Amino acid sequence: MTTIASTLESVKQRIVRAAEAAGRDGRSIRLLAVSKLQPAEAIRAAYAAGQEAFGESYVQEALAKIEALRDLPLEWHFIGPLQSNKTAAVAQHFAWVHSVDRLKIARRLSEARPKAMPPLNVCLQVNISGEVSKGGARPDDVADLADEVAMLPRLNLRGLMAIPRASDDPAEQRRQFAALRRLYAALQSRHGTFDTLSMGMSHDLEAAIAEGATLIRVGEAIFGVRPGKAAG
Ligand SMILES: *Cc1c(COP(=O)(O)O)cnc(C)c1O
Repeated sequence: MTTIASTLESVKQRIVRAAEAAGRDGRSIRLLAVSKLQPAEAIRAAYAAGQEAFGESYVQEALAKIEALRDLPLEWHFIGPLQSNKTAAVAQHFAWVHSVDRLKIARRLSEARPKAMPPLNVCLQVNISGEVSKGGARPDDVADLADEVAMLPRLNLRGLMAIPRASDDPAEQRRQFAALRRLYAALQSRHGTFDTLSMGMSHDLEAAIAEGATLIRVGEAIFGVRPGKAAG
């Protein structure tokens, strides 16, 4: 097995074990391989090992890789901070956006989504930890934002996403994930299209699965430590 095939396999085993511990079916949890700052060849290797969904955070870098990998049937998810001037490129080249945190961005994505493509799947990013440096809507604002985003014709509102405050304490990890889960459950009754709770990364996926994650976003546990982000 190549290195990426074996790390991918260990992540899948972690998912299965965490799901069993939580009394859940491991198949109800999707794995998004976060390939930001990794070369196209690493994505090719992961695809050869069975992975089809990839997450990217930087628009220019992602577009170059999407172009280089056109021959593969990959599903691209945008998970990074999104500026207004990049919304058209994202709406044209991605299947999902996890980081919608304001109506203006959602409107622009909907307007720019090509008619020939299915509606763009979106999750609303919630700033669950209240850190000023973090993107995401305030928890108190998410219900109104969800109502407005659900009306946009070219978007399909799938659920919520959060990046909690980093912590090595599993109890603290779970406390933050539980807060997102409660918000998700409260909105799910109003939004029949909700089926995605996007939370959990390399170091806290077990806690996320214990709290109901349906999609985890894993980078370094699959691809190894990321090379530093190049300037610009
Ligand atoms: C980088 C990133 C990840 C992956 O983090 P790892 O620690 O490499 O697993 C997940 N989600 C988002 C939003 C990210 O930016």
